[in-house]
Amino acid sequence: MSDYKEATLAVQAAIRQTSEQENSEAIFMTSSFAYGSAEEAAAKFGGDAGGNIYSRFTNPTVELFEKRLAALEKGEAAVATASGMAALQTLAYSLLQAGDKVVCSRNIFGSTVKFFNAYVAKFGVDIVYVDATDYDAWAIEIDSRTRLCYFETPSNPLYEVVDVARVTKLAHAKGALLCVDTVLATPALQNPLTQGADIVMQSATKFIDGQGRALGGALISNAEICEKFVGFMRSAGPAMSPFNAWVLLNGLETLALRMKAHSANAQALAEYLDAHPKVKKVNYGGLPTHKYHELAKQQQKGFGGVLSFELDGGREQAWRFINNVKLMSITGNLGDTKTLVTHPASTTHGRLTDEEKHKAGIVEGLVRVSVGIEDIEDILADVEQALAKL
Ligand SMILES: *Cc1c(COP(=O)(O)O)cnc(C)c1O
Repeated sequence: MSDYKEATLAVQAAIRQTSEQENSEAIFMTSSFAYGSAEEAAAKFGGDAGGNIYSRFTNPTVELFEKRLAALEKGEAAVATASGMAALQTLAYSLLQAGDKVVCSRNIFGSTVKFFNAYVAKFGVDIVYVDATDYDAWAIEIDSRTRLCYFETPSNPLYEVVDVARVTKLAHAKGALLCVDTVLATPALQNPLTQGADIVMQSATKFIDGQGRALGGALISNAEICEKFVGFMRSAGPAMSPFNAWVLLNGLETLALRMKAHSANAQALAEYLDAHPKVKKVNYGGLPTHKYHELAKQQQKGFGGVLSFELDGGREQAWRFINNVKLMSITGNLGDTKTLVTHPASTTHGRLTDEEKHKAGIVEGLVRVSVGIEDIEDILADVEQALAKL
């Protein structure tokens, strides 16, 4: 199966058919699995016989999602979790212990910062933040105590692009692991594992589902590291629901097609905004003037569907724009077929302190758009009429 090309793997990898001979994958909505005898149950629980026991441990639908995602990310294995944050929790609690140090990008998802600071640091793990595109800072902070390095590329919402191979070298030189959050790129546009990273973290809630229906997350890595995640998952229980696994599995089948459509629409919107007199700055990797355009082109197969832009007049003008759009949904989610708009400083990044926001570049005039797959003419018309009201 691994000889097949990506478009084939997206719909065919790890297909598993029951005796009913269904062609679309079945959903195994069951908490536990029943056996023919006490002897069989004892053998399964004791680990002498393989097979399913309980859906917190394994579930056939969840396993199918894991195998197909691993094939697309080019990893040996994947572990699916209830959400992206459950994947982060699994990463941290499986790998870290008191005395360890984590070197983390400053420009990451708001809840990631909160989780590290409030729930990991209290167990005696030092969390140090760096500007992710300052490679000298990575080199200074990564030391022999560093167990984990962590960043997002491209970052949300400013579209910073971090050189995966470069940070990998710095991390590996000190024996640290590198985990990359590529929620914005998805496996359709970037495979950090092939660029040196040890682990990929995904929020499947976003583009993998792609239609804003279900929460899910995953960690993709080699078999040895995934074994550690499995151990934590079984005891701690942030498991993915079989129903969500089935929804997300179907999402994987059309992911590459959708990412092409999202990227084309985002490119057109970025170019429109870039030329608009009321827009101060556009953050999108597909613009040749963007600081990280060349690196994005080299590391990614496309620029994706998320962009942000800055308006003069701070929060007041940003909110006015948002309150005047008609087609877009005002929501903190991203990666939906529908176009979504949000004001990061008061929503997704609202829990950061003013200093954290300032350091992360989340200014009050910033608006984020997750560009959907509607007709681009309608998206542009919506933006045009909302900008006209400023
Ligand atoms: C949404 C998101 C997460 C968290 O995922 P959930 O599924 O919402 O828990 C992490 N990183 C990025 C970049 C995200 O956009």
